Amino acid sequence: MIDEQLLRYSRQIMLPQIDISGQQRLLDSIALIIGVGGLGSPVALYLAACGVGEIVLADDDRVELKNLQRQIIYNSHQLGTVKVESAAAALGSLNPEVRVSVIADRISGDSLRKNIERADVVIDATDNLASRLEINQQCYATRTPLVSASAIRWEGQLSVFDSRQQDSPCYQCLYGRLGEVGQSCSENGVMGPVVGMLGCMQANEAVKLLTGAGSTLTGRVLMLDALSMDWQSIRLERDPACSVCGS
Ligand SMILES: [Zn+2]
Repeated sequence: MIDEQLLRYSRQIMLPQIDISGQQRLLDSIALIIGVGGLGSPVALYLAACGVGEIVLADDDRVELKNLQRQIIYNSHQLGTVKVESAAAALGSLNPEVRVSVIADRISGDSLRKNIERADVVIDATDNLASRLEINQQCYATRTPLVSASAIRWEGQLSVFDSRQQDSPCYQCLYGRLGEVGQSCSENGVMGPVVGMLGCMQANEAVKLLTGAGSTLTGRVLMLDALSMDWQSIRLERDPACSVCGS
């Protein structure tokens, strides 16, 4: 690591759980962020700021006026532009050292699998169930850790599914237990700082997965009601009858 890197990352290198070796691991890592909206914006910004070596952004949307209330990686000059390209520009000016690659597509099938296989961590920041279930399947099949979050209105939930661990549940286990939320923020609305908080926590879990610091949310689901500011952490066991990870 060169002096400039030691300085740029000094405040996190000071943390004994990160240190030089943890920073080097971040610099050597690849993070795949699927969905660059309200959740994906802070995830991408924080992972780029902290020096994750390569960030792959996947999203098929363009920047719209109604996005700017919460998708803080974009600005008013970028209306109508391809989201992943504008997001890549933002990351490039924040930290030119990070390699950013973009997929301006809703990835699925082979392309999804290939990109998940390459990644050290996957961030699910999508807004639809079909994508979530497929991302979960591919992460399980390739034993790639998955950081998943969702937010609607003033509420959010967050968990980590780490199929490298024998007893880790998967997203399908959670879905089987809670049932489909089946709601979208286009119909129900969502508060910007709420998705922001959830996205920041996804970035923090990703850093822990990449560096080995602390313990992650694997086996727990964190649920936030930001209107009353109540946090709840519920245990999530692996479902032996799960169609993805069950025996
Ligand atoms: Zn499962």
